[in-house]
Amino acid sequence: MSVVTSKPAAIEPNGLSIGDVARQTGLAISAIRYYERLGLIGPVPRWGGKRRFGANATRRLRTIMIVQRAGFSLDEIRTLLDTDTRQVARRRLAVEKLSSVRDQIRELESVVSSLEAAISCGCNNLEHCALITGGADRDATRQPHGDAEGGHYA
Ligand SMILES: [Zn+2]
Repeated sequence: MSVVTSKPAAIEPNGLSIGDVARQTGLAISAIRYYERLGLIGPVPRWGGKRRFGANATRRLRTIMIVQRAGFSLDEIRTLLDTDTRQVARRRLAVEKLSSVRDQIRELESVVSSLEAAISCGCNNLEHCALITGGADRDATRQPHGDAEGGHYA
């Protein structure tokens, strides 16, 4: 049985510099300062004039990054992180975002279909490619592209 002794720096919970946090999170130092100014992370204590970040701050920053990837604005993120905001309001924000992300997926799936059609079409003129220009109001899968008017060569 041994007594665990750690170096002071290792056990100090508030010991991370802003550079350390930037390296750990992948955030730019300017972004960390910005989030602090916006109040998205609590006031960061300063020792010797330098910010010293605790585990809570880095966890909060990681959470902000994840939530940002979902497309939330910083204002929305503030609401999501604020446990004083009613849970039903935060939940509504998430439900709305989910719906918006699903819309984006549908849009991107439509882009994928157009690109696949254009790649498989083989015509030489994108401007006249019915699969691209007529895709919105024609059923390209039923209308052989070669029969569409204009601009195609066999
Ligand atoms: Zn075409």
